[in-house]
Order: sequence, then structure tokens, then C-alpha cells
Amino acid sequence: MNRLKQPLPWQRNIPSVDRIVRELAEINLPRALVVAVVRRELAGLRGRKVDEHVDQGQVMRRIRCALEVLRRQKIQPVINATGIIIHTNLGRSPMGDRVVQTISSAASNFTNLEYDLGAGERGSRGLYVENALAVLCLAEAAAVVNNCAAALLLVLRHFTSDTARREVVISRGELVQIGGGFRIPEILESAGAVLREIGTTNKTAIEDYRRAIGPDTAMILKVHHSNFYMEGFVESPACRQIAALARRAKVPFLADLGSGAVFDTTELGPEREPMPQSVLADGADLVCFSGDKLLGGPQAGIIVGSAAYISALKKNPMSRALRCDKLILAALEATVDLLLSGELDQIPVRSMMNADVAQLRKRAGQIILALSDLPLRAEIGAGCARVGGGALPRTRIESVTVDLQTRSVRQFEQRLRCACPPVIGYCENDCLRLDLRTVFPTQDTLLIAAIRGTIQSVE
Ligand SMILES: *Cc1c(COP(=O)(O)O)cnc(C)c1O
Repeated sequence: MNRLKQPLPWQRNIPSVDRIVRELAEINLPRALVVAVVRRELAGLRGRKVDEHVDQGQVMRRIRCALEVLRRQKIQPVINATGIIIHTNLGRSPMGDRVVQTISSAASNFTNLEYDLGAGERGSRGLYVENALAVLCLAEAAAVVNNCAAALLLVLRHFTSDTARREVVISRGELVQIGGGFRIPEILESAGAVLREIGTTNKTAIEDYRRAIGPDTAMILKVHHSNFYMEGFVESPACRQIAALARRAKVPFLADLGSGAVFDTTELGPEREPMPQSVLADGADLVCFSGDKLLGGPQAGIIVGSAAYISALKKNPMSRALRCDKLILAALEATVDLLLSGELDQIPVRSMMNADVAQLRKRAGQIILALSDLPLRAEIGAGCARVGGGALPRTRIESVTVDLQTRSVRQFEQRLRCACPPVIGYCENDCLRLDLRTVFPTQDTLLIAAIRGTIQSVE
């Protein structure tokens, strides 16, 4: 302790925290954060061997580097030029102006979030959006929680709370991992359910379900594969068959759809993403899906289906812990309203899916023209955009890229990622490829400016 208070001879080289912070006046971060970084870096230096020479320039470079890392961690708009529309790492669905206005006014005002205006007393949250979602999905009722993982957890918890009936029947082919760290068997376990695996990885028959159902069965779960597909010697019974079995055995049947397409995805290609309304029509009691995947709204978990089950789920104490805040509910309301009135151009993920290739090509031409004086080669390329969000893993949407070649493509890609705003593309065939399907047309000038700034710093 004492050792640190008394400056040792070698420490005279190290400027004071105050002096360093003053030198960093241009850094646009709260002073307290800058001070903390400076202290941390200096403490690291003090830990070094006493006879080591401390170069002040080097100290400042280290500190600036650490501050730059900190700045990059801040949530900021990025230009998604990956061609992956619902990009989980880039925040999934962006929201359109109309939805954003709703969020903004809910954020800056008091709202009737839990207030019944007619009765003048406490009401329940989410009534409007739940009703609208039920209409959209042709369901009896709907409930909304934080995300689809939370929806699954709530349903599993609810139906396995009776210690005598804890088994959740699920096909071995559906014990999948979705994204980072979301594994179906682990979710089941953490919900207190007992896994009753049936069938094999590639084949599960209705007979397997029939044999597994017994007095210990709490529910049947079907999980959509989402981000992968199996082909060849595969078999799994139709939802309708499982639903009929569940009905006879009087056990609830939940289908976790993940994306939950509320529109027919065969508009985009041959792959068909299951739709909540058809899975319910096939007899599933409950269906859950995400708000920020194909629906194109904010992060949320939507549960639709039987009115009796939904009402019981909403009374479960866990619902309280998983409930959404007013901003999300306002955004979801606005999104579902747009879907119900068919104003798809207001939902960015939908307009990106539907963007015209000729239009993308025209933009690519304009961008390339604006870069023509720079020391790089820029060409129009053919891109393969994807839906992302774990939906339609085989579907490729024809797209257009701006392909950039420079002396060091890797270095250029990395610098562009740290530009203002950051631009995320992908390297292929010694090119940095920027897919325009996922770039908002209003971002083209920003994209050009980011490339200009970056090329000047690399060359
Ligand atoms: C994406 C997905 C989830 C998780 O959804 P979140 O909204 O990210 O929690 C769950 N199940 C399936 C099948 C999915 O595809």
C-alpha cells in the first residue's frame, strides 16, 4: 500500500493523472470515465519492473488506445453492408420513422401504460397490442414478454410447475442451439422441466410421441430448426398430427417458431417459414416467436393461442419478471398496426427484402462515381443477400454490391469497421464487398464519406 503512495525514482517519468486528463481534453467521453482509464493504465505501469524505462509518448498512446476501445463499445448506428437483413449482431430489426415517433412520444411523456382511461383506475399493460397480435395471428389471445427465449421459459415453467408432471416431450432432432448460448435442452433444464427426448436426430415418428406420453407428461414442445436445415433421410410428423395427439391426451402443445413469419415467405424463395396463424390452425395450443425477427419490430417474445392458457400464463408470477417496458410495447403496437394496415414500406426489414435490384444497381453506380477520384478500384458486383435472424437459411435474395479493391483489403475492411459511422461489409476474392440491400438509401452519402475518410488514412 505504502509503496504506491511514495513515488519511486522511476515513477518520476510518469505524468500525473491530472496532467494526462488535461491533455485528453478532445476525448468525447465523461471525464470520470477518462480518469478511470488513465488510473487503470498507470496502475498497470506501476506493476512493471522498477528498472524499466517509461516512455511518456508510449504511455499516452496506450491510454488513447484504451479510450478508443471504450468509445467503440458505445452503442452507435452502424452501416450494415453485410447483406444479412436481420443481423443479430447488428441489433436485428431497425425500426421505421412511424414506429420511432411512437417510441419517442411514449418515452418523453406520461402514458396510460397501466391505467384504464375509461374507469379512471389501474388497468393492465399491453391490452391493445395483445388484441392486435391476436387479430394478426388469427389467435384467441396473445401475451408479450421480453424475447422469445423468455416466452419459452415462461410456458415451460408454467406447465412444469406441478412436481408430478414435469416431462416435456421433444424430438431429438429439435434439441438445437440457436445463436450464442441458447440451447433448447439447457433452457428446459433451467425451467425445471424434465427432458423426455424421443426419436432420433433425423427421424421422429408420431408413434414416438404416442409412446412417450403418459402420466408424467407436462407438455409437448416442437422447436423450429430456424438456422439450419436437414435433408435426405429425415422425417418428423406434421403439427396437425402432434396436435391431435396432444388434444386426446389433454396435454398442452407449444410450437416455438423463432422467427414466426406473419407473411408467406415463398414470396422470397422456395423455403417456407412456419406462420403462427397456420400452426394454430393446425391445432397447436400455443405458439411463440420473436418480435424483432421477421415481424420487423422491437425485441419481444410473443405468445399466441388458447385464451385459457394465455390468461393463466399472464397470471403466473414469472410474467411480472419478464414483462416489457412502455417503449417496447409502444413500438410493438405501432409495428403491428402497420402490419395490419398493410403499410409494409414503413417496416425496414420488409422494404429491404422487397427492394428492387435495378434500384440497388443505380445506387451502386452513383456510389462508385462518387469514389472515382480515390486510389481504389470500385466495381458493381452481384450479391446474395440473406434474411438472417435464423430464418430461411437457404434463401438467397438477388442483390447488388459495391466491390472495393485496395492495396490491403483486410486493413481497409478493419479501418472501415471503425470509421464514423462504422461500415460492416465482408471480404471475398480480395475485395471488400458492400451489399446495398441492407444499406438504407439515406445512408449512401455517409457510406461514401466513410470510405473517403478511411482510404485517406490507409494510403
Ligand atoms: C431466435 C429463436 C429463439 C430466441 O428468440 P429471442 O427473441 O432471440 O429470444 C427461440 N427459438 C427459436 C426457434 C428461435 O429461432
